[in-house]
Amino acid sequence: MEGRVVAAHGRQYVVELADGSLLPCFPRGKKSEVACGDRVDLQRTSDDQGVIEAIQPRTSLLYRSNEIRQKLIAANVDQVVIVVATEPGFSDELVTRALLAAESEEIEPLIVLNKCDLADKLAAARAQLAVFAGLGYRIVELSARDHAEDLRPDLHGHTSVLVGQSGMGKSTLVNALVPEARAATREISAALDSGKHTTTHAALYHLDADSQLIDSPGLQEFGLGHLDRQEIEHAFREFRPYLGQCRFRDCHHDREPDCALTAAVEAGHIDARRFALYHRIVG
Ligand code: GDP
Ligand code: ZN
Repeated sequence: MEGRVVAAHGRQYVVELADGSLLPCFPRGKKSEVACGDRVDLQRTSDDQGVIEAIQPRTSLLYRSNEIRQKLIAANVDQVVIVVATEPGFSDELVTRALLAAESEEIEPLIVLNKCDLADKLAAARAQLAVFAGLGYRIVELSARDHAEDLRPDLHGHTSVLVGQSGMGKSTLVNALVPEARAATREISAALDSGKHTTTHAALYHLDADSQLIDSPGLQEFGLGHLDRQEIEHAFREFRPYLGQCRFRDCHHDREPDCALTAAVEAGHIDARRFALYHRIVG
């Protein structure tokens, strides 16, 4: 049988079968490398249990990591929606890291500025996002509470994953865009036997026949330890014209003479804070 993973919680998965029914599954073998959104081959082992035999080839895989382990966020998505809000404050670094993760997988990123109804906070949030707008990243402003629909055209035809710090309004957005989300979450939670009706796991919802939305748990960090220095350089989209232009092929863009990136920073073509963050991320 084939199916699609619609929820991932630790080593437990919920797979949606061709007829739309849900089957709780465990992966074969010890190491679980299955992600929400994965298309899998599975075998039913009982009425209410299956085993994932194989993961079908992915078009993309978004993950974050630290020195110790990797966490899969979502597979087969073609859009990463990074949700920030006018309040509480959000981390530029986290937004940057999510953008880098998307760039490294060649997934289209979209930034959503939520809670735009909080008018007195709007100007500051826009100023904080200006650096990303200047780099050409699209930003959609909305208020998930009463205008979540503003996002629907951008989701149509895509499999999107929502990422963001908790408190930014991701759940509000999902519940508004997917009226069945609460029921689906309950059904998924029951299948996962997690005993909780909250989304502590990644879950895939259907928006329409051609559009899916994956909600991932709120993140407070976004490690990129799985990317090497070259991949990170490339993921800073404004660095690309200068890559390969340094005197030394293995330039660390630090104190080397004739470094094209350092020169671009000095000439004002690359934002100095982005460059500092690059150095911090490659450590
Ligand atoms: P999550 O942690 O990202 O899932 O965030 P929630 O959806 O739980 O929202 C966090 C808080 O922000 C809740 O109190 C929401 O009611 C509130 N909130 C969400 N969207 C909006 C919005 O558009 N405007 C305002 N003013 N508050 C919002
Ligand atoms: Zn250099």
